[in-house]
Amino acid sequence: MSNNELAKFGYIQAQSASDAVSILTKYAGNAKIIGGGTDLLYMMKDNVDLHVPEYLVDITNLGLDYVKYTASDGLRIGATTTVGKVQSDPNVNQYYTALVQATSGHPPGIANAATVAGDVLQEVWCWYMRGNYDCWRNGGNVCYAAIGDNRYYQSIFGGNLCYAVNPGDIAPVLFALGADVTVQGPGGSKTMTMEQLMPGVTLVDGRVTELGLHYNELVTEIHIPAPASGTQSAYFKLADRGGIDFALASAAVVVTTNGSTISGAKVYLGGVANTPHRAPSAESALVNQTLPLSTSVIAQAATNAVSGSNPLTWGTGNGFKVQEAMAAVKKALANLT
Ligand SMILES: Cc1cc2nc3c(=O)[nH]c(=O)nc-3n(C[C@H](O)[C@H](O)[C@H](O)COP(=O)(O)OP(=O)(O)OC[C@H]3O[C@@H](n4cnc5c(N)ncnc54)[C@H](O)[C@@H]3O)c2cc1C
Repeated sequence: MSNNELAKFGYIQAQSASDAVSILTKYAGNAKIIGGGTDLLYMMKDNVDLHVPEYLVDITNLGLDYVKYTASDGLRIGATTTVGKVQSDPNVNQYYTALVQATSGHPPGIANAATVAGDVLQEVWCWYMRGNYDCWRNGGNVCYAAIGDNRYYQSIFGGNLCYAVNPGDIAPVLFALGADVTVQGPGGSKTMTMEQLMPGVTLVDGRVTELGLHYNELVTEIHIPAPASGTQSAYFKLADRGGIDFALASAAVVVTTNGSTISGAKVYLGGVANTPHRAPSAESALVNQTLPLSTSVIAQAATNAVSGSNPLTWGTGNGFKVQEAMAAVKKALANLT
């Protein structure tokens, strides 16, 4: 088949989450969940072999399109809720500034189709993987990016076979806000922390992936705890093409305060590792500091955030992303008041 010609596929509309699991199980790896299709159809059109399923399982009819907030429970977002709907939700705007900022960078056409779960679970944007090279992710046994063109969507914090970074804007914020997800699988429903859902490069069902989800499991809901009083959050991304591109580096920060003093902090970097990268020494630099932060505290936290980074030096190299990550941290911290 010529490139960019969409292969024929079967389309099945699941009637319930457990029905979707049964269908995925029946077709044993040859079926995939489709949410908005903005990532999956892209890969199918480009004939990225391992990502061209025979069947698409549509879950948009399962009543999972909702955003609910209560002060005791926090925020619950159904898996098929669009990025745009989350961005404009009044409670999200009132309580989760970083989530609004992370959902604001998508081009409007994408934001209105893409689901939040799909954003978290989208494939990496390493051009070798997307170009159907026989790399680890495509069933081969080499990482071309490690020695080739690794300027943009590759890690500065090492790799484990694969150096591609997790690309999405929403995941770093979910990590920083302590979110968890509900997953439906053959054994029923279970809760997974973000760390369990996105453990970093690993082997699942015989495939190299950074997701801890099996072929016959689906995410049905994302839950973010209610913020403690005095919590502030911010997200900032630096991208090659401004707001319509994937992060070269991004930063999600969440602080809890006692008066104007920071009593707890979470700092996660996006776009620089195969899963959102936690920066504990940046967090330590923020605790006991007073808001608004001084430039010297911000600079120290940014420097600490990239400690342990190890940019790629073979091929094109990506050392500039260390500076980008520091800049993203500075910009995010400057948002805190
Ligand atoms: C032009 C363009 C610009 C973009 N810009 C940005 C950006 O700035 N920031 C950003 O973060 N992203 C960006 N994206 C990525 C976009 O946000 C994702 O493609 C989108 O969020 C994926 O969601 P979807 O519902 O379309 O997923 P789909 O394409 O339907 O699915 C994506 C993957 O997730 C799986 N999946 C989907 N839902 C579930 C579920 N509930 N359970 C289990 N598996 C599931 C699918 O099987 C598939 O493997 C951009 C994409 C494009 C094409």
